[in-house]
Amino acid sequence: MTNTVANPAGEPWQWEEAHWRGLINQVRAGERLAPKSWPGGARCAVALSFDADHETNELREGGKSIGRMAWGQYGNRVGVPRVLELLKRHDIPASFYVPAVVALTYPDEQRRVIAEGHEIGIHGWIHELNSVLPYEVERDLMFRAADTLEHVTGVRPVGLRTPSWDFSPNTLRIETELGLLYDSSLMADEDCYDLLMDGVSTGIVEVPVEWIRDDAVYFMMHRFQSLRPYTPPKDVLDIFLREFDAAYEAGGLFQLTMHPHIITPRSRIWILEEVIRHAKAKGDVWFATHAQVAEYAKANKA
Ligand SMILES: [Zn+2]
Repeated sequence: MTNTVANPAGEPWQWEEAHWRGLINQVRAGERLAPKSWPGGARCAVALSFDADHETNELREGGKSIGRMAWGQYGNRVGVPRVLELLKRHDIPASFYVPAVVALTYPDEQRRVIAEGHEIGIHGWIHELNSVLPYEVERDLMFRAADTLEHVTGVRPVGLRTPSWDFSPNTLRIETELGLLYDSSLMADEDCYDLLMDGVSTGIVEVPVEWIRDDAVYFMMHRFQSLRPYTPPKDVLDIFLREFDAAYEAGGLFQLTMHPHIITPRSRIWILEEVIRHAKAKGDVWFATHAQVAEYAKANKA
């Protein structure tokens, strides 16, 4: 099995309908899984997530920069502890997505995350891009990543976020082979939904993400590329709060993706705290892990 469906000869506008329909149908959103209310009668669910990529952001493509790996280590030394302290102070759970190489580098970090009541999900082996891998390689890495997280933490992961939300034509099949409860890499809706593979329900719940609700989009920086932070922290807070307020009005889900080395610098960590305070002030918001959201949405669809 290859990693891509071969395109026929000719330009896309010359393709037979069966071909473009086949491409579209590989992975689709199926039934919407939107509960009428959330546990305890809550109006809105808040699912916070932290992708603890650390040094793998540099290693994934063969990079060896000491400087960029130091930025990764900041994620372990400052980032994750600062996030955990904040979550503990507000007594709320969250989900952490951890490449296997990070779990092997920092096993104590993962054990602390689990011990403090949070979830750890699969996030690749070394933050590799799935879409460039043949099926057999992607499958092997995903299974070994799940085994590694279980070995380090004692808890078998039930969810997966593909590194960089990069999804191959085989990713969903492998998730079914792993028996996962949910995926959190795609963005076909604002509510949870059932994932269809070639038009057939897989029973795997998508907990949808969005680039808008991702700190990396606003704050990423690369000294030797043109990538620079371009949105002031107060504007990022404004975007996140507007996303939350609308999700609350709709009685839906507010899902947020962050990175420990990006959101925790002193001039930014207050954004996360403000979001938490704002959501808590509503009084009827359910803070949950992605696994808890997926499980509840699947069992209580409206
Ligand atoms: Zn990542």
